[in-house]
Amino acid sequence: MRNKIVAGNWKMHKTYPETHALLDELIEKLPSGKEVEVIVAPAFTNLASAVAHLDGTNIQVSAQNMHQAEGGAFTGEISAQMLKSIGVDTVIIGHSERRHYFHETDAVLADKVNTALRHNMRVIFCIGEELKDRENKQYLNVIFNQLTDGLFHLTKEQMANIVIAYEPVWAIGTGETATPEQAQEMHAFIRQEIERKYDKKVADNIAILYGGSVKPSNAKEIFSKPDVDGGLIGGAALVADDFTAIVNAAY
Ligand code: PEP
Repeated sequence: MRNKIVAGNWKMHKTYPETHALLDELIEKLPSGKEVEVIVAPAFTNLASAVAHLDGTNIQVSAQNMHQAEGGAFTGEISAQMLKSIGVDTVIIGHSERRHYFHETDAVLADKVNTALRHNMRVIFCIGEELKDRENKQYLNVIFNQLTDGLFHLTKEQMANIVIAYEPVWAIGTGETATPEQAQEMHAFIRQEIERKYDKKVADNIAILYGGSVKPSNAKEIFSKPDVDGGLIGGAALVADDFTAIVNAAY
């Protein structure tokens, strides 16, 4: 059966010393239980030192992005092999900010997923509709297309290394949160489509995280929904007390 996961996406925040100060606070404050997997995703410049700093703790490190090519003339980019070589085994792919600001299409994202899996990495694959899609009642179709184009070429075995993060774009960094019922409706839909494409075992085993303005005050209610298996946290992941409260809410 699937695990509960709480992952913090630090985005382009925290310098090297700030990263280490936050990690120290998290090491001190996070619960010691293992029932909830905790992942942090600092900036590229701080990944190697974060891995070393967190050695011997239960906190895992993820990258926020990677390039789809094995290597080559791609100035400014980072490969899967580079991440693996510093002990990073997880990568976030398809965050809405990557889709929006960096024009990452479903085809590019599918390529990135393939590359990450080829390097035995675990992928946190983000999907989410925009406000207009929800208003036009197209939100289920949008999510279905993102699943189909980004993930549904994978085999059952490969799906074991995928975590899905449902992040409605209108709820990211806006303070606006999907209601627990809206989250549950979408998570159940995603699981149902995975079962339809693969089978019940794949659907039951895959963790589907919710992301979008999760805070200590709303985490418990969202995480209590049967198809919500934890969260991908942005802003609140930058404050140790808030992130700790959110992790505790997943227990
Ligand atoms: C995110 O960027 O993945 C996110 C969920 O951000 P926030 O929690 O700040 O809405």
